Amino acid sequence: MPDLTEYKESLIRKRDEITNAAGQRPFQATMDNNSRQGDLADQASGNNEVHIQLKLKQTDAKILQAIEEALLRIDKGTYGMCRDCGEPISAARLKAIPWTRVCITCKEKQST
Ligand SMILES: [Zn+2]
Repeated sequence: MPDLTEYKESLIRKRDEITNAAGQRPFQATMDNNSRQGDLADQASGNNEVHIQLKLKQTDAKILQAIEEALLRIDKGTYGMCRDCGEPISAARLKAIPWTRVCITCKEKQST
């Protein structure tokens, strides 16, 4: 059983970074809940600058969602396993992107 404290700390640090940068309460990821995103899109209509900010926030929201999932996996004891092939994700990759869901092999398969 690897020591996950370090990963947990960097996940929480990154989450705080994104949350603080947004300057407001955490932007909820919208994968299974589109209502909040709809509100923001309505507010953003007709304003390109807000549209760009909204896009940035959606990227952050995806990372936030991934961070939350990673923290859950730490609690469940499944952290560091590839979602696709079930193999352990390399420590180097987890250090670089602690919220990653897949190993480098599966990631490369996805992007081709
Ligand atoms: Zn994999």
